[in-house]
Amino acid sequence: MFNQSSLPDPYPDEALSSWMYRVRETLPEPEIRSLWGLNDHDRSLSPFVTPYMKVVGGRGKDLDFDFERAEIYRFAEAYDLSIEWIKSVFFPASGQIVPIWFRSDYCLRCMEESIGDVGFPVYLKSWRLILKPFCQKHGCVLRSAKNYLHDSIDFAMDVFEYDSGRPGELEREAKWLEIDAEVHALGKMVADRVEKVLVKAQDEIVRKNGERFIMTLLRMTLMPPCWSYYSSIIKFRVQSGKEFECKNELSLFYQYPQRVTAMARARSLYLMGILLGWIDEDQAENAKPKNDFYLATSASSIWRRLGPLHRVRPMLQLYSTELFGISTLADWGGFNV
Ligand SMILES: [Zn+2]
Repeated sequence: MFNQSSLPDPYPDEALSSWMYRVRETLPEPEIRSLWGLNDHDRSLSPFVTPYMKVVGGRGKDLDFDFERAEIYRFAEAYDLSIEWIKSVFFPASGQIVPIWFRSDYCLRCMEESIGDVGFPVYLKSWRLILKPFCQKHGCVLRSAKNYLHDSIDFAMDVFEYDSGRPGELEREAKWLEIDAEVHALGKMVADRVEKVLVKAQDEIVRKNGERFIMTLLRMTLMPPCWSYYSSIIKFRVQSGKEFECKNELSLFYQYPQRVTAMARARSLYLMGILLGWIDEDQAENAKPKNDFYLATSASSIWRRLGPLHRVRPMLQLYSTELFGISTLADWGGFNV
């Protein structure tokens, strides 16, 4: 039988699905082990195949943060772990997260390092934070996977293998990121400052409204009127498709932050920094890549573009608190006409 001390240690910040995958690969449950010796035909007839495919696939279920799932209870039972221990190690995220079916962001350097440390590319929890499109360890902007296995429990392995097969593309991407580095650095400054403000909030309702205020700014700056600001960002959207294109404006308003790449969210944070008055025009002009003609460097130009989004004004008013408020937004008067 298994016990906690015989299992691989969770990696710092590792997501539960990633650890479950590593545990099963390293020390498979007896039912799974019994499948290994079978040929394809016999395996397809085995009563264990379906449950195995379910646990390996885990499709559509959030095994990173939804600790009440039956799959997690089954896993805990098979490996003799307490749910309390699982919750204490893989505790929920501290902010809004990208839903599992849109999960796509990762840091390749972290994956390479974890292979050196534990022999597997691990998937980290913090990569799912919507307002943190940067690696918490390396500070770089996260990459976003193009494949469609976002919700499978071997996602990290899958992405890593996929990336190993496209060195040319990664190199091109690295060049783009280099050109955009100063804009991303300002975006990271904004993300860090937002976090600091939210952490300090004493009152939970005030903190929640502060987060809503920031999420509204994020949503605004990702809407189509602002799309020309993202012209140099490769892979602005993930999982675009006919079904997505037909959605109405309001549902898109809520979905964009979840569906765009981390690189796009990083640039959005830069635009938010201008609106919040945290990035002045000189800083923005200095950071702007030379060939990026359309990128905004002033609040008034962003407000001008956002003009038709009438619904957003009362939202920002509603969520205003002592943390963030319309009265402190740069050039708000230009928008509030
Ligand atoms: Zn990293």
